[in-house]
Amino acid sequence: MGSLLRELTGEYEAYLRDESHTVGRADWIAFPRTEEEVARVLREAWERDIPVTLQGGRTGISAGCVPHGGVVVSLSRMTRAEGCRALDDGRFSFLLQPGVVLSELGKWVESKRFDTRGWDGESLAAYGGFCRAGEFFFSPDPTERSACIGGMAACNASGARSYCYGPVRDHILSLRAVLMDGRTVALRRGERFARGLDFELPCEDGSVLRGRLPGYAMPATKNTSGYYCAPDMDLMDLFIGSDGTLAALTQVEAALLPLPAFQWCVNAYFMEEGQAIAFVKAVRDSVPKAAAIEYFDGDALNILRRQRAENPAFAALPPVPDGAAAAVCVELHDDDRASIQERLFRLGEQLTAAGGREENTQVARTAADVAALKFFRHAVPESVNMLIAQRKKLDPVITKLGTDMAVPDDRLEEVVALYRRGLAETGLQSAVWGHAGNNHLHVNILPRNGDDYRRGKALYADWARAVTGMGGAVSSEHAVGKAKADFLEIMYGPEHIAGMRALKRVFDPKGLLGQDNLFTKEGN
Ligand SMILES: Cc1cc2nc3c(=O)[nH]c(=O)nc-3n(C[C@H](O)[C@H](O)[C@H](O)COP(=O)(O)OP(=O)(O)OC[C@H]3O[C@@H](n4cnc5c(N)ncnc54)[C@H](O)[C@@H]3O)c2cc1C
Repeated sequence: MGSLLRELTGEYEAYLRDESHTVGRADWIAFPRTEEEVARVLREAWERDIPVTLQGGRTGISAGCVPHGGVVVSLSRMTRAEGCRALDDGRFSFLLQPGVVLSELGKWVESKRFDTRGWDGESLAAYGGFCRAGEFFFSPDPTERSACIGGMAACNASGARSYCYGPVRDHILSLRAVLMDGRTVALRRGERFARGLDFELPCEDGSVLRGRLPGYAMPATKNTSGYYCAPDMDLMDLFIGSDGTLAALTQVEAALLPLPAFQWCVNAYFMEEGQAIAFVKAVRDSVPKAAAIEYFDGDALNILRRQRAENPAFAALPPVPDGAAAAVCVELHDDDRASIQERLFRLGEQLTAAGGREENTQVARTAADVAALKFFRHAVPESVNMLIAQRKKLDPVITKLGTDMAVPDDRLEEVVALYRRGLAETGLQSAVWGHAGNNHLHVNILPRNGDDYRRGKALYADWARAVTGMGGAVSSEHAVGKAKADFLEIMYGPEHIAGMRALKRVFDPKGLLGQDNLFTKEGN
């Protein structure tokens, strides 16, 4: 059998970068199509001491899939659904290869059309039940729908609706993974646990991995900062959020939820940021079951205003009212019309109390109107990425500095004040948006030159220290990758980073997989 590694020539140049716009280097690339091929590629790299960087859709913004040498293993051609299961509670799950793209999965689920070639009888029977049952959806929505399910699992991706439904971790029922030396592991939720901090994990060849979890306490916020770690934890959780450092995920079982009969969206503009934050808190406290509570500051709105006026691709954006200094977008899901109307009414009351006005509020009740507001939400990060790409052409050192930190509920105002103070003191350009319901705002510093970039990085590090002090997380959905390794050390300290390195050695003793993700190889 020949090698699956091919030389990484110019035609594969795009595989050296992700949406962080940092550019890596690699000598080879491989596109396995089956788990067996993944095992072959990894085993070869293992035997030849070649570092491996795993890739999905390359939509990550932490440079996790940007290679630092060796071979890029792109799972993007493993795009099949391999089976279906009927769950005891009337729901269904699908066994997905890691390269299944989120938007494709959405289409398959919505149309109930999966390619079932090669499925076993049990899967086909479950699939028949799925086709006869009501409507379902896969709730994780990390905005960028060209993300792959393997990448989403590796980052423990979230998105707006995770406010209500939780991150991707909560929707994965089983997974298969290939270790760096080619051994395979299969795990199903609820079947294999650590004992305290010690664990034993059997591989399918009969060998057993034995190790100890790092002893840190994870923050009680939305979090994807380093390895999931808790006494007696389900060992499947080690792989979810492991950022391409422990194993290649080769199958992810994604569980669906029943599709709510009504999905409405309210976009409320405010003339002051404080009003918008007060509204977020009021919605959280008094409007049950909001699916998402998203926030956009005045700078983000200005970017949208400009895009709408100047770029035909954004002409369909809803207009932003004059003078609006912030917007809050609330998604409501419900199965009952009277109930969602009642919640909309309550939302209106909170809106007025916070200083909002009906004429500055858009209410979307139809699928088309909701899609328009989702376009609005997606347009913000996309526009900022475009802006940074332009600036990078003038100064290659520039990349976007986007924070991904969450704090506990009672720290929302404090963290907003922290960000505002830092931005005002440094005079750095920025745009702030994100998942305010989870106290998880992305402060995007937009460097104009190399000096801005360096000052922005220093400010980001100061915030990482302050957020850690508030009991928060330095990375809450984008994973740490390479871009935020320094902040992970700020959050957990050198001792726990050493614990993470020791944990990684159990799975990858040569330190070849996902080099420089989470922590640098030095000290390995
Ligand atoms: C405009 C925009 C908006 C975004 N908004 C959000 C958001 O709201 N919420 C959110 O969570 N994310 C968001 N993201 C980030 C990104 O979409 C997610 O992090 C996504 O989960 C990455 O998936 P991917 O397939 O592109 O992974 P990649 O970028 O290819 O890889 C990400 C990491 O996963 C590892 N990896 C990939 N595949 C595998 C595998 N099969 N096995 C093991 N490791 C693997 C890689 O090595 C890397 O460390 C956004 C990105 C963009 C560009």
